Amino acid sequence: MISLQNIEKVYRTDTVETLALNSISLDVAKGEFLSIMGPSGCGKSTLLNIMGLLDAPSKGVVNIAGQQTGSLNDKSLAAFRNKTLGFIFQSYHLINDLQVIDNVELPLLYRNISARERRELAAEALAKVGLANRMKHFPTQLSGGQRQRVAIARAIVGRPEIILADEPTGNLDSAMGNEIMDILMQLNQQDGTTIVMVTHDEYMAGKTHRLVRLFDGSQVQ
Ligand code: ADP
Ligand code: ADP
Repeated sequence: MISLQNIEKVYRTDTVETLALNSISLDVAKGEFLSIMGPSGCGKSTLLNIMGLLDAPSKGVVNIAGQQTGSLNDKSLAAFRNKTLGFIFQSYHLINDLQVIDNVELPLLYRNISARERRELAAEALAKVGLANRMKHFPTQLSGGQRQRVAIARAIVGRPEIILADEPTGNLDSAMGNEIMDILMQLNQQDGTTIVMVTHDEYMAGKTHRLVRLFDGSQVQ
């Protein structure tokens, strides 16, 4: 489902050059739940951003869901990303002055579907994460765990084959973190969604199928 071959990422500024990823090759199978761990600065977010087509590698080949992504122009890349990938972040990244239901509908705005269908799909996604009764709330009226569940609903509303999660439980206490982890495991097991999750939490990583460890831009396990 995801195939990275010899990925290198160099960040260049006027004065410094950082080798953030050094020859990473990684395959993630369809239906797999993979976690990525490693110390701060080792390249986890960079790797996730490259898998998510948010950033291009300096070298190497990125194949996502059978698509060789290097050949896509910006517009095709954005459409492909929107259709294929769902994103979850540590800090939720919700829009605070939009109601929960409108936040969840956002990824559908780029698709050619009616307002009514958008609403139905968003309500369905919210029901799936147990928030059918919070549609008209604003994000600031919700707990951290609930906000993350809204973010998950937004990530799955377009039925992506792949979810990329950057420390989804990092801002949550262990009870809420477990709740979020249960939802992700359910999406993986019941819907067959492929998930890649960056985490600092060995316990959460232990619940996934496979763990990749990075150190200083290289894969060490
Ligand atoms: P992690 O997510 O594991 O904390 P990152 O992928 O964020 O690591 O960063 C990997 C390395 O690349 C770090 O040394 C970081 O300082 C550097 N880096 C990340 N983003 C940038 C950037 N936009 N410009 C320059 N260096 C960056
Ligand atoms: P999170 O809540 O997941 O930490 P952030 O907003 O902190 O979300 O961003 C996630 C990652 O995106 C960071 O770890 C960093 O590598 C990258 N990032 C954030 N801001 C920038 C930026 N201005 N330039 C380059 N990379 C960035």
